[in-house]
Amino acid sequence: MTNVVIVGGGPAGLSAGLFASKNGLDTTLFDTDGTWMHKAHLFNFLGVGSVGGSEFMATARQQVDDFGVDRHQGEKVTGVEAAGDGFAVTTEEGEYDADYVVLATGANRDLAESLGCEFDDDDTVSVGVSMETSVEGVYATGAMARAEEWQAVISAGDGAAAALNILSNEKGEHYHDFDVPDTAASVFGDLIDDEE
Ligand SMILES: Cc1cc2nc3c(=O)[nH]c(=O)nc-3n(C[C@H](O)[C@H](O)[C@H](O)COP(=O)(O)OP(=O)(O)OC[C@H]3O[C@@H](n4cnc5c(N)ncnc54)[C@H](O)[C@@H]3O)c2cc1C
Repeated sequence: MTNVVIVGGGPAGLSAGLFASKNGLDTTLFDTDGTWMHKAHLFNFLGVGSVGGSEFMATARQQVDDFGVDRHQGEKVTGVEAAGDGFAVTTEEGEYDADYVVLATGANRDLAESLGCEFDDDDTVSVGVSMETSVEGVYATGAMARAEEWQAVISAGDGAAAALNILSNEKGEHYHDFDVPDTAASVFGDLIDDEE
């Protein structure tokens, strides 16, 4: 199965993980919990109303866990390098293979730099709307790809765009993650079954 490794578990990384795992990709996420969300209170995340940043994170983490993301909380990624057709991801605790890597490390761009990703003149990682970098199979999302537009809803959108692009690559056609009311009951039922 296709392996997706996500580095960083703020809104960008968790959103990438949600879309990837929900749609059948083998998804592993590493996070050191330095997200800015712990300092924030959200009034500007459409559809959410008002919520504390840490409370938002708890809900988001539960959501990705429910959809099967293998979330390694507290495990730092120390290196990512090309290996064969994919990538070797090194953490403080082990090594992992990846077909795709989604970088979601906030404003820290070190891993993108060491992978040889191109940067723009303003020192952000160079990406298009798919969030793919100049290194095929490596995506940069959220604050690392933007000079100042640092908002949770934008990061979450970036992560979703990255995962959908990976899914489209894998399926060989544009992929849509569309749910409708008639199937919601079965998805919700599956989640309840998993928790029992
Ligand atoms: C005081 C303050 C108030 C804010 N208020 C708002 C607000 O009201 N509304 C709003 O929309 N936004 C607000 N923000 C901004 C918002 O928090 C960010 O836009 C958002 O957190 C960015 O998400 P991200 O996923 O790109 O990065 P982050 O949330 O920064 O997440 C990056 C994650 O990657 C992890 N990480 C980094 N390197 C590694 C590694 N090598 N291995 C494993 N994990 C790693 C970090 O520990 C972190 O958990 C606020 C920010 C601050 C500082």
